Amino acid sequence: MSELLAYEEATSICTRCPLAATRTQVVFGSGDPNADLMFVGEAPGFHEDKNGVPFVGQAGKLLEQLLNGIGLSRTDVYIANVLKCRPPGNRDPQPEEIEACESHLFRQIELIRPTLVATLGNFATKLLSGKPTGITKVHGLAQQVALGGNEVMLYPLFHPAAALYTRSMLSVLEEDFLRIPELLGLTTVAPEPAAFELEPEAEPERPLAPAVQLGLF
Ligand code: URA
Repeated sequence: MSELLAYEEATSICTRCPLAATRTQVVFGSGDPNADLMFVGEAPGFHEDKNGVPFVGQAGKLLEQLLNGIGLSRTDVYIANVLKCRPPGNRDPQPEEIEACESHLFRQIELIRPTLVATLGNFATKLLSGKPTGITKVHGLAQQVALGGNEVMLYPLFHPAAALYTRSMLSVLEEDFLRIPELLGLTTVAPEPAAFELEPEAEPERPLAPAVQLGLF
């Protein structure tokens, strides 16, 4: 059994916080255990709690369509959440719950060793960046962080559930998503700029990538 599967099995009986009493099951994560790209959402909702798989409701459908728009599917990536158990009524995760659960996520990241971690929404972004700055300010801004003993690129994105109800947020999320392929190929630290000034070259003409066609509205 792989270490990740063994850890998943161990986590399935977790009682570190009171959510153990109200959950149907632990929603550990799903996808390719060797993925370069990992998504981290907030917490399981109703459908995730029933199915044991993250992002299987409406927000998950949107996430899949966004992935398809950049030539990926959910089996190419790994998807997890900050909390592994559903907060009753889908309320926000509480600080004590995040504290109790965070080492599960850190261990997952350590075992999967992604090069790019896309955080979906405020909770995942604040936890993994270690900073209090909210998603509205940092979405689309990739930053190098040390996670699970490795350097990874953190890429904060709006949460798909929020984008389902706010059209302007959906456009921003689509645009931010289009940068993922580039970031997957650019996960090392950029070289230091040369010490001398180069003549700026003219930008080559390049067609814009087509917008993701979601057809949700
Ligand atoms: N929202 C999340 O953050 N995670 C899920 O798994 C589903 C919805």
